[in-house]
Amino acid sequence: MDWRVPLADLDYDDQEKEAVRNVIESKWLTMGAVTQQFEAQFAAFVKCRHAIAVSNATQALHLACLSLDIGPGDEVIVPSLSFVATANAVLYCGADVRFADINSMENLTISPQSILENITPKTKAIIVMHYAGYPCQMPEIMQIAKEHNLALIEDAAHAPGASLDGKPLGTWGDVGCFSFFSNKNLSTGEGGMITTNRDDIAEKVKLQRSHGMTSLTYDRHKGHAFSYDVVDLGYNYRIDEIRSALGIEQLKKLPKNNIRRGELTKMYWQGLASTDIGLPFSKMVQGRSSYHVFPVVLPGGSDRHAFMVGLRGAGIQSSIHYRPIHTFTYYQKKYGKINLPITEQVGQREVTLPLYPTMGDEKMNLVVSQVKKLLS
Ligand SMILES: *Cc1c(COP(=O)(O)O)cnc(C)c1O
Repeated sequence: MDWRVPLADLDYDDQEKEAVRNVIESKWLTMGAVTQQFEAQFAAFVKCRHAIAVSNATQALHLACLSLDIGPGDEVIVPSLSFVATANAVLYCGADVRFADINSMENLTISPQSILENITPKTKAIIVMHYAGYPCQMPEIMQIAKEHNLALIEDAAHAPGASLDGKPLGTWGDVGCFSFFSNKNLSTGEGGMITTNRDDIAEKVKLQRSHGMTSLTYDRHKGHAFSYDVVDLGYNYRIDEIRSALGIEQLKKLPKNNIRRGELTKMYWQGLASTDIGLPFSKMVQGRSSYHVFPVVLPGGSDRHAFMVGLRGAGIQSSIHYRPIHTFTYYQKKYGKINLPITEQVGQREVTLPLYPTMGDEKMNLVVSQVKKLLS
């Protein structure tokens, strides 16, 4: 469909084209010097000891779980209001998830109280997800993790460039996982990054990213090694040089683009303040968001489908973040009925409106006026 206002759009231009051309001309396509450069720059950007690139954030989450020895018999507490990969990564390891509720209709991040209620003798870790780039209550959650001896993973797929108390999201817990999927703030098509300040985790992740091999094809190409040993069960989760090159260009644009996303978000909040639509996060001034998406919550009893059809009629694309994971057929079959009242309310009433850094004010105003029309 040809949208007048798409949900998201890339900020790509000649810089990305040039970066890709340079990789092609170098004739070295897989994980090598450009990836190392991307990792070093990303680590510096989030002020973290290690940044390890992979092909997507789902792999990042999987390796994060493995690096913390999550396996059969363990439980990991995750938010149900997230993308399904947050929970799937735990299941890949043979462990089980326990779904926690969110804080409120205002704050759509995982509730520390609900985390506490889900702790059992089997709990090994917590995964938090910084919804739309708004920080979870990290000091409180870190305290819970410490008291109960639990590992902490941050699903920071929405959150590159976001911070709390000046500390970048994705560097609070033991491991952070970022996504560079097409519609994310930093996009390379497919791509992901693992961040950690722990040397032991970095070492495990690097091994498991490439078959548990002690040397890479790139090391042998450089003449640094002739052979390798396999010391662990690993995977092929490597990224390639073309996408790392795109990542380097996108990282340069990220700070400015996050600022623009923030401006648009605040204009949306102002434009919609006089309506009875719910505006999550608008009354919280916690840390700095990356404003990945713009969620609204329709008044109770509204027909969401009709609302989204109404937007589509005006050429405006919308989406839902998210259908709660515990309501999917696969998860219902696995775990039976689970009650998460706030998550379920948001799951039924949330709509995501267009937000992207190249969006002009006039497009935002068009969305606001169409939303007002549909509400009245
Ligand atoms: C996009 C996303 C992922 C998965 O990222 P991929 O890079 O597509 O694997 C995981 N968690 C959340 C919250 C996401 O938004």
